[in-house]
Order: sequence, then C-alpha cells, then structure tokens
Amino acid sequence: MHSSNSPDSSEETSMKYFGCAWYPEAWPRERWAEDIRLMKEAGINAVRMGEFNWGRFEPQEGKFEFSDYRHLLEKLHENGIAVLLCTPTAAPPKWMSSRYPEILKSDKTGQPVYDGNRRHCCPSSLKFREFSRRITEKMAETFRDSPAIFAWQLDNEIAAEAEHGFCFCDGCAKRFRTHLEMKYRTVENLNAAWNGAFWSGDFTSFDEIDPRNFKRVSWKAEYAQFMSSLYTELAYEQRDILRQVNPSWKITTNSWTSFLPDVAPDEIYPGLDFASCDTYLGNDSLEFSHSFWDYYRNIRGKRQAFTVGETGAWNPVTTQKDAYQVLRTWAWDAFAHGAENLFYFRWRQSLMGEESHPSILPWSGNPGEAYGIISRTIREIRAFSGQHPGLPPPESNVAILTDRLTGFITKYRDDYSYFHAVVRMNQALNETGVHADILPLSLITEHTLSAYKLVILPQIEHLPDAVCRFLHEYRRNGGKILAQCRLNRMDEFGKYRMESAPANLQKLFGLHIDESCNICKGVDFREFEYNERTLPENNRSLDVEFMGKQARLLSFMEKPIPDTCRILQEYTAGLYQGAPLFTEHDGAFYLAAPMNREGLALVMRHLLKQCGIPRFHVPPKCQRIQRGTILFYINNTADTAVFEDDGIELPPYECLRKEIRER
Ligand SMILES: [Zn+2]
Repeated sequence: MHSSNSPDSSEETSMKYFGCAWYPEAWPRERWAEDIRLMKEAGINAVRMGEFNWGRFEPQEGKFEFSDYRHLLEKLHENGIAVLLCTPTAAPPKWMSSRYPEILKSDKTGQPVYDGNRRHCCPSSLKFREFSRRITEKMAETFRDSPAIFAWQLDNEIAAEAEHGFCFCDGCAKRFRTHLEMKYRTVENLNAAWNGAFWSGDFTSFDEIDPRNFKRVSWKAEYAQFMSSLYTELAYEQRDILRQVNPSWKITTNSWTSFLPDVAPDEIYPGLDFASCDTYLGNDSLEFSHSFWDYYRNIRGKRQAFTVGETGAWNPVTTQKDAYQVLRTWAWDAFAHGAENLFYFRWRQSLMGEESHPSILPWSGNPGEAYGIISRTIREIRAFSGQHPGLPPPESNVAILTDRLTGFITKYRDDYSYFHAVVRMNQALNETGVHADILPLSLITEHTLSAYKLVILPQIEHLPDAVCRFLHEYRRNGGKILAQCRLNRMDEFGKYRMESAPANLQKLFGLHIDESCNICKGVDFREFEYNERTLPENNRSLDVEFMGKQARLLSFMEKPIPDTCRILQEYTAGLYQGAPLFTEHDGAFYLAAPMNREGLALVMRHLLKQCGIPRFHVPPKCQRIQRGTILFYINNTADTAVFEDDGIELPPYECLRKEIRER
C-alpha cells in the first residue's frame, strides 16, 4: 500500500506546508542534523529538495545513488518535516553532455549551448528524453513508499526561452515542421495565415521553414507556442511515470512566468494537481505578485489554493529600514491571497556567486535576524491558520480575462506590454479593495462568467467565437463588461482582421472602430515602473481631462464610431479630440486607450458603483482582502497605512486580521 501521508497532513490548517528550498548536497553531511534541528526549531514543516541534484543522483551513466536522500527523507520525516521532492531535470550532469553532445540545445548559429549552468538540454532530443524518463522512474521507485513526500515538483521553473533562448537544433526544427503540417495541412493555408504575401514571404514547401531565420512577429510567436507545448509534453511524460508508480502522489511544477507566456501556465497546469508559482521580492513588484496570485488561484479552471514555490531574494528592498519585516508581511500577503504552501528561497546562502541571494541562514550557518523573522512568521501564520482551518481562497465578483495568444504575439511585437496592461487593471481594482479572479480564456466555459458581476477584457487582441457568444449571453443576463481597446482585432493566427473592430462584438458595445494610432511605442511599459520612478522626459504620452480629473493615455488610441452607445467621455486632446474615449451601451463599457493608474481608478470607481460592488480606499501597495470570514489588512510599506473607510491605521509592514460575520 502506498502512503503519501506526510507528518502534518492530518493537521487542520489553512496554511499546510511552510518552509524553504534546501540544497543539502552542497554542505558536509555532518551539518545535516544541525540544519534539520534548526529547521524544526524555526517551525519549518516542509522543504523543497532535489531539483538540481541529478549529478549526485546519477554520478555515472546508469549508476544511481539515492542513499543520501533516502537518509535525509527519513530524518526529515522523523522531525515532522515533509518534502516537496523535485525531479532534477533542470540540471543534467556533465557526463551526459560529454558523452552525448546531441542533448545540448543549439542556438541560432548552430552552436551548442554549453552546460555548467542549467536548462541547457534540447526538449526534443530523444536521448535527453530517455534520460529524463529514466531518472524519474528511478526516483519514483526509490521513494515509492516514503511517507515524507507530500508532493512532487516536475523539473524547476520549466522554461523554453528563458535562460538560454529557444533550442534551434535540426531536431526541434523538424518537429516544428511536422507540427505545422498537422496544423495547416497545406503550405497555401500556412502562407495565408502567416501573411506570406507581404515581403515575398510565401513558402513553397514546409521543408523551407527554418525557425532560426524567423524575423516576423507571428512566426516567432508560432515557434514559441510550439515550444510551450513541447516542454509541457516533456513535463507530462514525467508526471505519467510518477502517477503510475504511486497514484496518490500530488504533482505540480513551479512556474516563474506570468501572463507573458514562456511555457504557458494555462497549458501546463490544468494537467497537474495544483498550481505553484515563484514570486520574488524586488524582482517583481508587489503589484505583479498580487496579480500572479490572483491568476494562479484560477489557473486550473476553478478557484483553488496555490503554492508559492519560491519567495525571498530580498536584496532589492534593503534600502528600506526594517527590510527584514518584508519577509513576514509578504508571507501574510500570499496567505491572504489563497496560498496554502509557501517556500522561502533558500535555507542557506549559496557558497559561490550563483544564486547567492540572502538566505534564511548566512554563509556562516549561524541563525541571525532573517532566521528570527522567518521563524516568527511561520509560527504566527501556522497558528492562525490552525485556528481558522479550511479557509476558502478569496472570492470575487469581478473577473479579468487573459489570452495566451495575445501574450505570445505581443511578447515579440514589442509595442506595448500586455502583461502590464493586465496588472495595471488589477491594481486599479486592488486600490478600491476589490480583487479580481484573473482567468485564462482557454479555460472559460459557458458557465464561467455567470459567477461575476463585472468582466474585464484588458487589451485582449483575440477572442475565440465561443467566448464572444458567452459574453453576449452574460450581458443578456445582466452582467456588466468593460473592454479596453484592441478588442478582438486579431484572428486565431495573430493577424489583424480585415473588418471593423471589435469583431463579433460591435452590437454588444454599440460601436465600431476603423481608425487607431500609436501614441508612443512602449510608453505604457515605462509608466508602470514598480518603484514609481518618473518617466524620462522624452517619453511621450497624452494628458487628457477624464471624468472631471486628469488622466494620461499610454501607447495607443482608437477612434470609436458610436452606433448605439452613449459617450461618457470624449478625448479632450490629441488627434482624436472630440471623439469618444469612454462609452457605454446597456452595461457594456468600452475604453478606447490604455490609461495610467489615476485614470483607471476613475473608471473602476464608476463601474463598481454601477455594479453595486462596495468600494474602499486602500493605500498604494497595501491590501484589503477577504478570505472566508477573515478580512486581511496588509501594509507592505515602510509608512503607516491609513484605511480611511475602515478607520484603521496600520503600522509599517503589519498585517491585521479581522473576523467578520457577514460575507
Ligand atoms: Zn532542439
């Protein structure tokens, strides 16, 4: 009989596993017992291990060595610490690339991507795939009955383009051509979809297609989507082996990506048991992380608790007094957003330059201030969540829809950041105390939207026909919609449609759009610098009067022609002065340009009022978020935060919990 019961799985708590990433192989064996003792003393009840340890698991081809990890898992279990065990395929051993150089990724010039770092293997190399399956099988068989394992993580931060760029080897190119033939059937279909008529871009056979030479946006985006599927296939190969050996194991992977896809989260997570994302302090702004969490909570097509696979790396906040407090506030913030497991990165500071982020223990191994704060945080959150077991993830009556194709296309088109457009919209909601469910379009069904009072479509350039139908139906049933420019301008191949925008939705919004123009390429990206840096002077944007105040338009604007819609605000400056900027037709609102946060805040307040959704004043970077019967107030700043409507003054880096009767 298999057992995946970890030491704490019977405990009733909302935060289940709380710990860190541990790389014991990099320290002497004699230290391990002391590390486990210190972890236990800190209240740590889980570690994430093994993701870079292939070299020690298989020191020579076909010779496997798991005795250290067997010993460690036993000791951890004895001390009440569960393990998120990882397949180690992110860092294949040296002997593999020496003996089988064909496993290495190939760059655009045909040069191999050398080893010594990580993620250097080609996803379509049959030899690499064989090794990947074998190490997974060996680990699964070895740890089949280990009671220490609470879940598996596949690989580490699976990525196709990040780290070394895509693989462009002959094998990948060949698989890509086969994929294109299956998808388009004929080269004529492909030419039509890829706009081959321009710049003499027609292919005469699939054999001519070589992703190394791609210069065009949609071609690159097609290769990126293919690569996403290839890595998903590789991950699922490992998943299937694990499930076969022990069907009760829960399986995830830790994604570093966001709505800007590399391996698309909405492609890989629906086939896994739970979602796990890495959010780094400082690398990401707070606003990004809040939005990631709102996304990962919904990434499997239903609202669900998620895991923060890595958090930490707090170098960038050390200019702030009490920066260590961020480690505590941050964990409360993730918990309030629905995290049920959280792993700090990392237990002890790396011995050389790589990944040498400040860690729970410094190089010396002696506990210091970070250890103290993290111990306190772990005890505090686990005690609280033990008193409030079964807290559901935060609920919302507002949905923000996101689209994978728009993400891939805009990543290469580079005229604005789609990712920032989504975050900016959610941030405007957060500042009124509202948190959206951020939903991937690919998982929406006819029943999804009816759970919401307001559905927001920020710069979604492609909508499948089915989703257009769902939106019409949703509106007929009384739901409200806000769309922000560029709506459904592209076909399913990423090509602009030869018709007025928004395709299939003109009646819904009571308008049509033919003309549009750039204000300034990329300006919206810089507008959203997370440290609130001011714009460089040469960045152009357009200041307008908006709803009685001032707002700034970013990157792009459209000129809607009203059919049946009501004009709520005209452009007060620029090329389209006098034309509609913000309109409504029977509960369907259209905003014709991206806007800064001040402008979006005005839009949100107007809309939330229309929807009867209560609005609160929440200071920037702070959070007011409800999970079940608990209302969390979180101050992520070094200043006192005033939540005016609630009469609450919160000291720097504090989290206040309030039990409420009515929900
Ligand atoms: Zn390849």
